[in-house]
Amino acid sequence: MIQIKGFAIRGLLRYVKESDHPGGIPALLDRLPPEAARHFRTKILSSRWYPYEAFLGPLHAIDAELGDGDLALMPAIGEFSGRQDAGSIFRFVAALSSIEAIVGRAAFLWQRYCDRGRFEIAELERGRLHLALAEFPEIDRAHCALIPGWIQGLGRAVGARDPAIEQVRCIHRGDPRCEFAGSWAA
Ligand SMILES: [Zn+2]
Repeated sequence: MIQIKGFAIRGLLRYVKESDHPGGIPALLDRLPPEAARHFRTKILSSRWYPYEAFLGPLHAIDAELGDGDLALMPAIGEFSGRQDAGSIFRFVAALSSIEAIVGRAAFLWQRYCDRGRFEIAELERGRLHLALAEFPEIDRAHCALIPGWIQGLGRAVGARDPAIEQVRCIHRGDPRCEFAGSWAA
């Protein structure tokens, strides 16, 4: 069973709260499939592990209700979450001085976020990065679509200017693994 940390789920709920979604979080939770909804009967705790569907349920509901169901909202949700995470669960990240320092610890950060997958650094130099997410063939399409935004949000939180990260390979397009690359003003 794939598990993800509660703070990832709480980031989604906070995004809904700050959006103009009619009915807010309660209305969104009402729309969840039962296997996802059951996790929301009690408060979601940031540092607890939850089954992957407790994250994917709200993520797909947001995509359908706040977006057009085409995943176009995912980078913005990722960026919002990354900024939140940098100031809360990853607040020690703020002590890291640069996006290079964060990305250098990507494998460590990912382990604290999801129990499947391993981030590998293919390239990291001043102003440029290329990362691969290995050993996570089950990653959901919506999840990998938000990761570039998440990296951007974390980067912005430590002062990276104009980060532009994209997904350059994807398991859902037939590539062997998902990869992310981009640049920022160094
Ligand atoms: Zn992907």
